[in-house]
Amino acid sequence: MIRKLYPDGKRKAFNITYDDGVMQDLRFVELMNRYGLKGTFNLNSELMKTRFAWTHPNGMEVKRLDVDTARWLYRGHEIASHTRTHPYMRDLSEAEILDQLGQDKQDLEEMLGVEVAGFAVPFRYYSPMIAECAKQCGFEYARMSEFSRNYEPCRDYWFWKTGFYHIEPGLEAFVEGFFETDEELAVCQIVGHSYDLDAEGLWGTMEEIVRNISREETIWSCTNLELVRYLKAMDAVDINGSVIHNHSGMDLWFEIDGETVCIPSQQ
Ligand SMILES: [Zn+2]
Repeated sequence: MIRKLYPDGKRKAFNITYDDGVMQDLRFVELMNRYGLKGTFNLNSELMKTRFAWTHPNGMEVKRLDVDTARWLYRGHEIASHTRTHPYMRDLSEAEILDQLGQDKQDLEEMLGVEVAGFAVPFRYYSPMIAECAKQCGFEYARMSEFSRNYEPCRDYWFWKTGFYHIEPGLEAFVEGFFETDEELAVCQIVGHSYDLDAEGLWGTMEEIVRNISREETIWSCTNLELVRYLKAMDAVDINGSVIHNHSGMDLWFEIDGETVCIPSQQ
């Protein structure tokens, strides 16, 4: 019996992905760091430069972080692209999409001094052309705004679906179900914006989730990019009866007849 595992023999993976790079990320990243968890943060380079702000329907002003703050704040977490200016992408030409994605990637990498290999679409419009542009710009995955509401790892890296939008009803039940599931390579991915935590009064709920996840030793806390890279490596593995051929370039973990083993890449 062979069962696929995550790095260090962990059975499940957990990721929080928050978009837009807003002031509330200061408090949220501090929370994640306190519990030793990693997150993914999708930023808009141009809106960061101009310190864009807007008024939430509840009257709260939502402000972007500046470049200097972003540079230290997100250390140890993943920074991903969310386009330059957060446009609704349906009416954009291919050239405009390539600029929104490619320039954002380049600017974020230059301004923040990190590798940017993930992309998340702003608003809800997504298309095969956007996926194609993300490939052309050198991304490794592209996230659309659809939710699976389950724990199955997404295997379509260009139409990446996350698990659960955090302000929808049932967040706690979704996380509870994750603790209970025994699905192979189960993933719990929660998505949203840290300003929602202010707007919806969700700080206490999120802290409880983060605390409970951090206490569970069988859960791998990862960035979206780390998850994608590991799943891609798993896709490349050849299992022939009880023989595992790993040419993925990455150490992979399995449970074989009840024993946890690491199979190093044979490349
Ligand atoms: Zn956004």
